[in-house]
Amino acid sequence: MRALYCEEGDLSLRLDYPQPQPRPGEALLRLRMAGICGTDLALTRGYKDGVSLVLGHEYVADVISAPGHESWVGQRVVGEINTACGHCARCSRGLVTHCAERRVLGILDWDGALADTFLSPVANLYPVPANVSDEQAVFTEPLAAAYAVLRDMPSDAGERMVLFGDGRLGQLIARVLAAEGFDPLLVGRHAAKLAVAAAAGIRTQLVSSAAEIRSHAEYDVAIDATGSAQAINDILACLRPRGVLILKTTSAQTTRLDLAAVVVNELRIIGSRCGPFPQALAALAAGKVDPRPLISARYPLAQAEQAMRVAAQAESLKVLVIP
Ligand SMILES: [Zn+2]
Ligand SMILES: [Zn+2]
Repeated sequence: MRALYCEEGDLSLRLDYPQPQPRPGEALLRLRMAGICGTDLALTRGYKDGVSLVLGHEYVADVISAPGHESWVGQRVVGEINTACGHCARCSRGLVTHCAERRVLGILDWDGALADTFLSPVANLYPVPANVSDEQAVFTEPLAAAYAVLRDMPSDAGERMVLFGDGRLGQLIARVLAAEGFDPLLVGRHAAKLAVAAAAGIRTQLVSSAAEIRSHAEYDVAIDATGSAQAINDILACLRPRGVLILKTTSAQTTRLDLAAVVVNELRIIGSRCGPFPQALAALAAGKVDPRPLISARYPLAQAEQAMRVAAQAESLKVLVIP
């Protein structure tokens, strides 16, 4: 079968990759549609050392087989990406997405979805409601990551929110915040991308320098979805004392954080990664969030390498791969 393989950063479409065989508790899935995200691009740039696997963790697929779980066969599904052992100390405490033994679809020790077929633990799957199209369902994983911002926000955080980053994830977070009754300001560097958000009724502001970022002040909550570690001290400067910074960027870069500013202003910094699938699917089914305006391009799996190149261009939002 075909599979987009990343070998320590080198990308190639393999045409004779062995089809995986599901073990008990796993499902064999046939890809309907996959989305390319910043994490896929970061993996090809060395975000994690020595990663060699099939990429892809945003998908909608059909269940072909599921030994011991035959009722799933034929269902159209999306799936969570972290595997959990179910018995380590973290799993026992409910931290299943942080399982000490975890593997992560298309990211860590588990072949991903940018292939004709791939495996998922059955426990990670969710049926897609009939009224949610493939082009909506393929956004479930990043939309869940966007909902994680609300899950991870302290209840006393306040409502003045500024969101940095007009890319894929920033766009989804802005839509989630707006859908849930907030009025965030989305700050970015790309006029065309900000226009996509503005068309969804989101307040936007174009900036081109650190000084312009720092001109935003006294926010209760700042969210970093810039995809880069560079602006983090400027973003910190936008918060009121005891304000909350939520970090969504996973970057290959390291950065220097101004810790004195964190202590003096008693800021709260929260890392936020994967989020709740049920909430994301419900929002799609109810039409609360429509991610489809984010689709920049569609490519067949045979052109998956080209799809990755296009996804890496600054003007691209979501690039889909459709077998
Ligand atoms: Zn992703
Ligand atoms: Zn575990």
